Amino acid sequence: MSDILSLSLAGLRARLADRSVSATDAVSSCLERIADTEPAIEALLTVTGEAALTQAQAMDAAGPDASKPLWGVPVVVKDAICTKGVATTCASRILENFVPFYDATCVARLKEAGAILLGKANMDEFAMGSSTENSAFQKTRNPWNLDKVPGGSSGGSGATVAAGQCFAALGTDTGGSIRLPASFCGVTGIKPTYGRISRYGVVAYGSSLDQVGPLARTAEDCAVMLQVMSGHDAKDSTSAPREVPDFAAQTATRKDLKGLRLGLPEEYWGEGLTAEVRACCDQAVDAAKGLGAVVVPVKLPHTKYAIATYYIVAMAEASSNLARFDGVRYGFRHPDAKDLRDLYEMSRSEGFGEEVQRRIVLGTYVLSAGYYDAYYRKAAQVRRLIRQDFLDAFQACDVIVGPTSPFTAFGLGEKADDPLQMYLADIFTISLNLSGLPGLSMPVGLGQESGLPVGLQMFGKAWDEGTILGAANALSGALPQIGMPKI
Ligand code: GLN
Repeated sequence: MSDILSLSLAGLRARLADRSVSATDAVSSCLERIADTEPAIEALLTVTGEAALTQAQAMDAAGPDASKPLWGVPVVVKDAICTKGVATTCASRILENFVPFYDATCVARLKEAGAILLGKANMDEFAMGSSTENSAFQKTRNPWNLDKVPGGSSGGSGATVAAGQCFAALGTDTGGSIRLPASFCGVTGIKPTYGRISRYGVVAYGSSLDQVGPLARTAEDCAVMLQVMSGHDAKDSTSAPREVPDFAAQTATRKDLKGLRLGLPEEYWGEGLTAEVRACCDQAVDAAKGLGAVVVPVKLPHTKYAIATYYIVAMAEASSNLARFDGVRYGFRHPDAKDLRDLYEMSRSEGFGEEVQRRIVLGTYVLSAGYYDAYYRKAAQVRRLIRQDFLDAFQACDVIVGPTSPFTAFGLGEKADDPLQMYLADIFTISLNLSGLPGLSMPVGLGQESGLPVGLQMFGKAWDEGTILGAANALSGALPQIGMPKI
């Protein structure tokens, strides 16, 4: 692997700025790495190699631009996010031929900051899943062990960063889809506060839960990406008109955790964790104490209802959002339909995969007149209690810490036939989305038994991404580095 690819995004920026590395060098190194590793991991659905090289050459000819924080940095974008002129399929047959004529706001902001789009990442169809096995097109494998899943639904984004194909990737997180792949692939990923990043141009799954965020090698790299994408957007009324703090400065300068109160929720540290996940996470908490953090026990008593609540809310919203794929306006239209009813039925039955259809049916059911009160309304009420748990816990601490997943990456096919088992993989990630708060996952070691990455989550108060990013930066400095997979 070339020396360039062993740099972090922050390291690359410095080399691009002093011209010891050109944008063309950066892009070519990534493309070579993609050619070497893609046959084994299949992280990408589209590679925009030629366009990336042409753009890099033009940028080199003009010279570095210090006002652009991502000048010359190659990035990958999850295929749920619209990219102008580049297919955006959501890993679904129904959008197989969809080429957006506009960029999502987050992508437009990356481009304005000088980033170069390298390609689009594989995912679970419509971001529904925890392993990326629900993609209609290919199964991405974990670069640390090709028999394991990369996590999901942003598994392509996790795998492409872990394999060194790019310097950062975008994911979306509705119930853990940035943090779970970050954890399984040994990279850092952050789901910002709901409203921090515009959802304009992001294919909707659960609109009250979805957030875009970066996956990268370090917390500092995530901070740079987050900085560029954050802030109000008139095209998304749920994006917050709040000032964006200097995340990059808050992150890179934090070297210790003096006085920081870390809340350890008993529900996240109890039974069910594998021994290797517990060992790595315990070690990380000890390291945090060594850096001056104070550990306080906290309770999140409604955690046991989180999976049931999430899967009612998410499916309800999905069934409504996915109604727009009707064979008329976008994507796949069944050629043999004889009348309108046929057109809907045939296009949707063939265009959507099994998991997506299951969720549309369940979502429609929980919203139906007879069951709305029993399921949807009840879930909305429990959701508020789950959020209240966090608000109460944050009275006693500044950051909440726990494992991202009870286990390391599982085997391909291991949970694919059992949707309930797959849903349980989200046990520690989904409460955060129901609450709208920010959270990240960072690598804290390799499991002793599996040799696979273990991720630690840090949850922050609303709009306080800077504190968790800074804490992750300080903590990773005190932990042994896991390096990159030998693929
Ligand atoms: N695994 C969860 C689901 O399938 C979360 C997915 C996500 O965050 N997009 O809904």
